[in-house]
Amino acid sequence: MAEWRNWSGTVVSRPREVVMVHDVPHLQLLCEESAREGRRVKAVGAGHSFTGIAEPTDVLVRMDRLSGVRSVDEGTGRVWVHAGTPLHVLGPELQRRGLAMTNLGDIDRQTIAGAVSTGTHGTGAGFTGIAGQLTGVELVQADGSLLRVTETENAELLPAVMLSLGALGIVTALEIQCVPKFLLHAVEAPASLDEVLDGIDERVDGTDHFEFYWFPHTDRVLTKSNTRLTDESKRDPLPAWRSRIDDDLLSNKLFGALNKATTRAPRVIPAINQVSARALSRREFTDWSYRVFASERDVIFRETEFAVPRAAVPDVLRELRSWLSRKVEVIAFPVEVRFAAADDLWLSTAHGRESGYIAIHQYAGRDHSRYFEAFWSMLAGLDARPHWGKMHDLGAAELRSRYPKFDDFVALRDRLDPGRVFTNGYLDRVLG
Ligand SMILES: Cc1cc2nc3c(=O)[nH]c(=O)nc-3n(C[C@H](O)[C@H](O)[C@H](O)COP(=O)(O)OP(=O)(O)OC[C@H]3O[C@@H](n4cnc5c(N)ncnc54)[C@H](O)[C@@H]3O)c2cc1C
Repeated sequence: MAEWRNWSGTVVSRPREVVMVHDVPHLQLLCEESAREGRRVKAVGAGHSFTGIAEPTDVLVRMDRLSGVRSVDEGTGRVWVHAGTPLHVLGPELQRRGLAMTNLGDIDRQTIAGAVSTGTHGTGAGFTGIAGQLTGVELVQADGSLLRVTETENAELLPAVMLSLGALGIVTALEIQCVPKFLLHAVEAPASLDEVLDGIDERVDGTDHFEFYWFPHTDRVLTKSNTRLTDESKRDPLPAWRSRIDDDLLSNKLFGALNKATTRAPRVIPAINQVSARALSRREFTDWSYRVFASERDVIFRETEFAVPRAAVPDVLRELRSWLSRKVEVIAFPVEVRFAAADDLWLSTAHGRESGYIAIHQYAGRDHSRYFEAFWSMLAGLDARPHWGKMHDLGAAELRSRYPKFDDFVALRDRLDPGRVFTNGYLDRVLG
């Protein structure tokens, strides 16, 4: 039996079978046969979810061969892409056609189907997550039939299938509403946490894509403000040596070595965070959007992230600062804070409200449980919604009241997958 493990090593599984599908008819036959024989089927993307959402039990489906751009409508900017396309392939493919995705998360290793299935998002008060950019989805159902959902076919299902946790069928292709390719002018600058929290609305509303990283046990923050530009002559990318030093060496290699070294002596972390936070200097550059959105993340960590009503962000961070100041746990990884517009996707963490996202991390070599549990307890009463792909301990009973369309989604799942061919332990927990 082949072993499958996710990127962070939090989920290890031994599916009975691994199938690399070569086309849609092959996948249809596989689903139909598996359903008849009572086997569960799970498509995996790049395995970058921290939760067991992608955990395969019986049949693991690899979608690597269903990759690339299928068709482009030059008039509307709508592009059909195959489900297994990695985002780092899609960015340059769209760019060659004069197009881009309007917003992205902070890495590009995921597949497009995997990213939308868990509600992957970036930042920007005027922008939704990646699933919000879809206008069509095709998926294979348990009986092997192909369901096409677009603005004109089965349109009422669109807000459910655009972000479906892999629970409604296996997605084979997605239609993305792209925008003309654009540049991002990036400004990264140090600030203090209080200064950022006190002026948070001006920063979030005054910048296309604003986020910040706060270094625990310090008052230091690194802000990232990205502004969209269309004038190609403004392109001024980081020199290769600077990105090698800042992103490869400082953010990955040195940071990885420090985490390894401090695992046995975590008490020194607060002093190191002071130095790291102060070492970060201001930098500015302008490059194609898909290059600026994505960074490299080589240090393996564990993560939990919740969406809260945007206005609640400062209070949660102040409470987190107060807990961290007691040094019950010392944490090297920065806390990441991002923002998104409200959308209407049934299971989107930003459903019906402007959202702030607070993500905390722990090095994979250290225990995360006390830190994560303390953070979760700070979110009580906020109707906080966990990222579907990042660690949390909630089940259907708690989640139902946080999503107005939760029961509609469950009813649709009952209709499309009554035999639970596409379920696994995680989906049983969060959907019931
Ligand atoms: C280093 C790192 C950085 C990250 N940065 C961000 C970030 O900036 N923003 C953010 O929101 N998240 C972020 N994440 C989380 C990540 O984007 C999500 O977990 C995403 O779902 C992973 O995509 P994947 O291709 O690896 O999918 P997987 O984790 O392999 O699968 C995720 C889900 O998609 C389903 N799926 C995959 N393919 C199909 C298909 N064809 N049909 C149906 N279902 C399918 C799987 O069954 C599973 O349910 C990050 C994760 C890591 C490890």
